Amino acid sequence: MVGLVIVSHSRLLAEGVAELAREMAGPEARIATAGGLEGPDSPLGTDATRVVQAIESVYSDAGVLVLMDLGSAVLNAELALDLLPPEYRERVRLCGAPLVEGAVAAAALARTGAPLQRVAEEARSALRAKQEQLVEPATVPSPPQPRPTGGPEHVLRVTVPNAHGLHVRPAARLVQTVLRFPADVRLRNVTTQSERVDARSINSVMTLGVRQGHELEFIATGPEAAPALEAVRLLAEAHFGDDHPDQAAPASAQASRSRDEEAAGPWLTGITASPGIAIGAAVVLRQADDPGTPEAVGTPQEEWARLQRALEGVRGELGAMRAAMALRSGSQTAGIFEGHLLLLGDDELLRMAHEGIHRGTRGALVAWRAAVETMALRYEAMKDELLSSRAVDVRDVGRQVESALRGPSRSAESHPSSGIVLARDFAPSDVARLGARGIQGLCAARGAATSHAAILARSLGIPAVFGVGDALLRVADGTPLIVDATAARVCIQPSEELLARYQERVKEEERTRRTAHRLRAQPALTRDGRRVEVAANIGTVAEARAALEAGAEGVGLFRTEFLFLQRAAAPDEDEQYQAYRDAAQALGGHTLLIRTLDIGGDKPLPYLDMGSEANPFLGLRGLRFCLAHRELFTRQLRAIARAAAEHPIRVMFPMVTTLEEWREARALWNEAARPFPAAARAEVGLMLEVPSAALLAPHLAEEASFFSLGTNDLTQYLFAAERGNATVAHLADALHPALLQMVARVSEAAHARGRWVGVCGELAGDALAVPLLVGLGVDELSMSAPAIAPVKQALRACHAGEARALAQRALACASAAEVRRLLSGER
Ligand code: PEP
Ligand code: MG
Repeated sequence: MVGLVIVSHSRLLAEGVAELAREMAGPEARIATAGGLEGPDSPLGTDATRVVQAIESVYSDAGVLVLMDLGSAVLNAELALDLLPPEYRERVRLCGAPLVEGAVAAAALARTGAPLQRVAEEARSALRAKQEQLVEPATVPSPPQPRPTGGPEHVLRVTVPNAHGLHVRPAARLVQTVLRFPADVRLRNVTTQSERVDARSINSVMTLGVRQGHELEFIATGPEAAPALEAVRLLAEAHFGDDHPDQAAPASAQASRSRDEEAAGPWLTGITASPGIAIGAAVVLRQADDPGTPEAVGTPQEEWARLQRALEGVRGELGAMRAAMALRSGSQTAGIFEGHLLLLGDDELLRMAHEGIHRGTRGALVAWRAAVETMALRYEAMKDELLSSRAVDVRDVGRQVESALRGPSRSAESHPSSGIVLARDFAPSDVARLGARGIQGLCAARGAATSHAAILARSLGIPAVFGVGDALLRVADGTPLIVDATAARVCIQPSEELLARYQERVKEEERTRRTAHRLRAQPALTRDGRRVEVAANIGTVAEARAALEAGAEGVGLFRTEFLFLQRAAAPDEDEQYQAYRDAAQALGGHTLLIRTLDIGGDKPLPYLDMGSEANPFLGLRGLRFCLAHRELFTRQLRAIARAAAEHPIRVMFPMVTTLEEWREARALWNEAARPFPAAARAEVGLMLEVPSAALLAPHLAEEASFFSLGTNDLTQYLFAAERGNATVAHLADALHPALLQMVARVSEAAHARGRWVGVCGELAGDALAVPLLVGLGVDELSMSAPAIAPVKQALRACHAGEARALAQRALACASAAEVRRLLSGER
């Protein structure tokens, strides 16, 4: 029987609709609800993860029909569909039917065992009876006036040359052209054998899904039919008003470029924010400086209500992005949106906006913008680098609310759905939205590889080059581009030859990606048979499940701090034990490596008085914090020990600096594990993320079972370049030979004493670095789930013997750039 899911902003409404549908259709109807948000009073809102859960709870081979109320409910239902496994997705249908009537009609028919298609149709037509009964002539909108037809049919066929087909702008130009004539013009997509649609309706034209190379047939009748088609022909010849996307560079420029000059000639260089290659036309992102049209100002009450609605809409979108990110790339990435959600509810910000509105003369838009700017300037004035960088987040959130206040069309227009998007800088929400729309690549004049925007681009797999410089801002809309983000460069107006070569590379990478995905569950052996374990970094129990699906052979880093953040008090021993046990259980026998609490400094716990530090990254962080808060630490160790008594678990301590610290922590673990013989036998190791510990590796290896290199922190401490500070980001490159020497030293010390060594920093998930890490003797790599399949594939392509020679050459390099060149040459 087809299952039904009711999605509503209100829990009560969702349950009420389900109750009514069951009442009408009988109790056996399979109905689940996703209403309201998580929380004691179930606040109003919708959440994609809840929709996923509801779908899964009523899923069967017969399929599931999802009905929703409005706004973010639709958005979250769409997101939920994206988040479902592909085999589920095919059998889940989102339905535009009215919620109440649709649910009742669908439930009644579903009970009879009708197929999904029929149930959806029944729901969609559920309003008809009521409309027929209540129709009021004055309220029925008049249909668009049909154009006079008659006379001979004129027919025109054109092939669409545009690289991105008839996307919104060319489609809009087509509609505008047709509207200039009194003729009746229809068109159909010959290639996809579509129905004829009205060429005056942008929505109808868009539904034809016209791609490059598709053939369109226009049929015109009535007055001026022939001139109308002539105008369409001319428009098509002019690529529907787009610059010719395949336009080659001027002949003289092409002739002057040789293959060897590629790097110097038309290339702009920047930094790799997210690796990969993208080819497409430039789309310049119009950013918030646009003052927009003056707003019509209502009464203060109306304006305040308008702001509340906009805030609610943005909250829904951010919640959806957070849920999507959590499932796709882990809780750390999702945490970016957590912060933005908090900003939206910020009392001070709302108070300033409220005051602005109630002073009488300001509409919601102006008052909101002023409040956001005041808040951003306050942050900017702060000395602390981390706090002052919050201004970017405040303005990002502010811009999203402004867009919502101006109405959906404006915000949709400002985020294109194809091409390579260029901007001065990207905010995290830009990247999330652009990613959801399926753009090919990103280029920014500013920005660092460590920014939130870069983290998101990586987790979404969008090739991105940042920090290209202001020359980028002179590139016009529609200019053909190649983004070779792996090599941190962008080619403006590439030659035909270069384009052809890159197209070949893109195809090859796509083939590799598909193979990698197919083989993700297989172990990764190098060509000469060396096995490297590939594990996942997780922050929640749900991510443990996703990691296995992504091909992980276990968890190499469970960041337990996520259990402690965003709450009013620390979790007690039982709650922690359950979380560790559940994560271990989810791994079905694979090993779970638990890192003890890595808190302090930049990650404060609001319920503990942590004092304030001038340099939090050099202060009471990681193990230092835990040793200073014994009760909290031993409670966690006891919880881990209980879970380790039942499941394969390893333990490690973060940010160990000295031998004494390690010994102190180890003794506390021994104490906690003593009552549980299996736990007492668990492997206990440490993260090497402070240079002093890396230098002490020979001593530490005498006592620890393993090392895991935290290259994110090791890089920051080695180069004295704070990991969140964009202005020093260029210094902190994990492929720098100085860092590689640390890795080599640690690996040698570990192996000399029969210990294994892993890497769990971002470097582990960089497929480019795989031959180097293998060559340096690393035994395990742990990374975010999306990186697992490509890294396994890179391991399969690698030869451990050759990698050793490569690593020696890299160790002798003088800069990170030299290492990158060496690696690119090897590929
Ligand atoms: C690291 O520092 O490399 C690491 C994995 O730990 P985190 O990123 O959680 O600080
Ligand atoms: Mg770290």
